[in-house]
Amino acid sequence: MVNVGVLGATGMVGQRFIELLSGHPKFKITALTASARSAGKRYQDAVTWHLDSQIPEAVQDMVVVDTDPSQVKDVEIVFSALPTEHAAIVEPQFAAAGMGVASNASAMRMEPDVPLVIPEVNPEHLELIDNQRKNRGWDGFIVTNPNCSTIALVMTLKPLYDEFDIQRVYVSTMQAVSGAGYNGVPSMAILDNLVPFIGGEEEKMESETLHLLGDFDGETVTPASFGVSASCHRVPVVDGHTEAVFMEMEEDFAVEDVKNAFRNFKGLPQKLGLYSAPSTPVIVREEDNRPQPRMDRLTQRGMAVTVGRVRKDDVFPQSLKYVLLGHNTVRGAAGASILNAELINEIM
Ligand code: NAP
Repeated sequence: MVNVGVLGATGMVGQRFIELLSGHPKFKITALTASARSAGKRYQDAVTWHLDSQIPEAVQDMVVVDTDPSQVKDVEIVFSALPTEHAAIVEPQFAAAGMGVASNASAMRMEPDVPLVIPEVNPEHLELIDNQRKNRGWDGFIVTNPNCSTIALVMTLKPLYDEFDIQRVYVSTMQAVSGAGYNGVPSMAILDNLVPFIGGEEEKMESETLHLLGDFDGETVTPASFGVSASCHRVPVVDGHTEAVFMEMEEDFAVEDVKNAFRNFKGLPQKLGLYSAPSTPVIVREEDNRPQPRMDRLTQRGMAVTVGRVRKDDVFPQSLKYVLLGHNTVRGAAGASILNAELINEIM
């Protein structure tokens, strides 16, 4: 078993890490960190648990420590669910102390020597870890996964990017409140309402998408060159980000070919049979009223993206429309980091 820690273990994503790592065949949680507010307390006393499951027994009495590498002993990998500002400072400290950091935070995502990875999409970018260690003199490393909306979008773009000539993508999101953390969106702001702005989200979707689908020459990533424009919105849904995607192609296409590209899409995690990998990463639904967050977010343990309403645009030529749904704290956050770590553990 590989000993692992969770940084920011009391937060929304930290709790998801603990839930998903409970019973993991290869990773065993041996350290939990949070802020000074929680350090020194038993996990069950420090956390306000928000998930439908119970707090796993193995961590209930574990004592939370400060988020400081000197407090985390005999751990190979830490999963980071820290706020971005804090992640920027401490994740490099953990890597310098010899630990692998699988991070959800955006702080290091666009650093040229830090891999930003979705294992089904761009596993080859993990080679950047060698450059990173050389550049920074670290024994450990940092690997990141994209923003929660970007992951779901790119898992559906990758099979199309491989088969069709994409010119432009417009995406409009309907994002769940859990994406902002438990204290992120006050109930008075979101009940009976919708908030048409999520700070920094559109910029992340636009830049991370092109980076993930970019060319990698062993040293640098050259972003893909099609256009991506995002509009991001918060809606009164607890878990599960829905996205309406509009795409212009260079040439005409058959809708059935698009659906088959989604259905046949598999990547390295499926080939290697990684524990957290969904067997079918993109699920196509034929009903007019799917996907829906409540019904589809837990498909394949929350690790698959569900697509529906795949159709041609009747107004603009050579254009495609579809709706997708991904679980933002599973596939969009904790599950994504765990799958990154499983892949690294298997191939490096
Ligand atoms: P959250 O619920 O606010 O949790 C933050 C965690 O970090 C808590 O454990 C908190 O500990 C700890 N923390 C806060 N300040 C700290 C400090 N100064 N030192 C050490 N620990 C500190 O946030 P979240 O929604 O889980 O998000 C965590 C990260 O994941 C963020 O970077 C976010 O952008 C990213 N992310 C979130 C989602 C999502 O769907 N929620 C998706 C993708 C990425 P205390 O309890 O002790 O304060």
